[in-house]
Parts: sequence; structure tokens; C-alpha cells
Amino acid sequence: MICRNIKSKMPDLLLAPESVSAEVRAHVENCAECAQELRELEATMAAMDAWEAPEVSPYFDGRMAAVLREEQQNPPAGWLERLRTRLTFGEKMNLRPVAAAALALVIAVGGGMFGVLSDHSAPPAQAASPVIQDLQSLDENSVVFQQLNSMDQQQDSGDNGAANPNSL
Ligand SMILES: [Zn+2]
Repeated sequence: MICRNIKSKMPDLLLAPESVSAEVRAHVENCAECAQELRELEATMAAMDAWEAPEVSPYFDGRMAAVLREEQQNPPAGWLERLRTRLTFGEKMNLRPVAAAALALVIAVGGGMFGVLSDHSAPPAQAASPVIQDLQSLDENSVVFQQLNSMDQQQDSGDNGAANPNSL
């Protein structure tokens, strides 16, 4: 019998000796190395049995209970308040300016969205015919396209200078 095979049986040998074959038990009794190994394992298990988790101090318990009570009595914070608190007291201090800017953006966009939505939900002062509405939207689109084009041209002339014939 090989000692390496015996080692895998050692926990059984300690916890449930009757489940281990007589052959293994005989080997451990006659092999100094395996006997030593068994004694060490036994000592480790005894130490683990004796180990106890340290008691939490009464002060910690009382303090924790007080904080929990406080939190339960507080009204639930809105998501904006929670986000602001997180940004203000967040762990990653170097991200604060970026995060604050992002929050400002969220608020600005949120406000803008609200404005747009409330505009649309309001009844129109005078109902325009579908054709007029189409023409209006076409007009708006063409204005947007003109703006985009002029931006493109500015971009081109800035990039290419006199080499671009369109800018001359
Ligand atoms: Zn052995």
C-alpha cells in the first residue's frame, strides 16, 4: 500500500474509523510517516474545534441597533437625493468633478425632456391640417440641414484652407 493513497483516507480514519478498511488501519499503525501525519491532522482538527469566533462587543451591538432604527424611521430618500449623496460622499474622490458634471447634465436633459413632453401633451392652439404639418416639419428639417451644411463647410475650410475650392 502506498502512503499517498493512505493520506486521502486520513480524515475518514479520524472521523469515521469504521468506514476505513482494516488494511489502511494496519498500514497507519506500522508506518511511522503515516502515523505522524495522522497525529498532525488530529491536532489540527482539535484546534479548529476549540476555535471560536470572537464575541461582538456590546457597544457595537447597541450602536448598530441605533443606526438601524434611525434608518428605518427616516423617510425613503428619492433617487436624486441618493445619487447626490453618493456623488458627494463617494469613495472615488478623483471622479467627483466628472460625476457632478454628469449629474448636472442629467438634470438639464431631464428638465428639457419634461419641457418637450409637456409641450406635446398640451392641446394645440389651432389644429393645422396634415399637409401644413408636413410642410412645417419639412421646413424645420431643411433648416437643420442648412445648419449642418454650414457647419460642414466651416469645418472643411478650417481643415483645408485655400486648397478647398468650395471655400473660395
Ligand atoms: Zn505510510
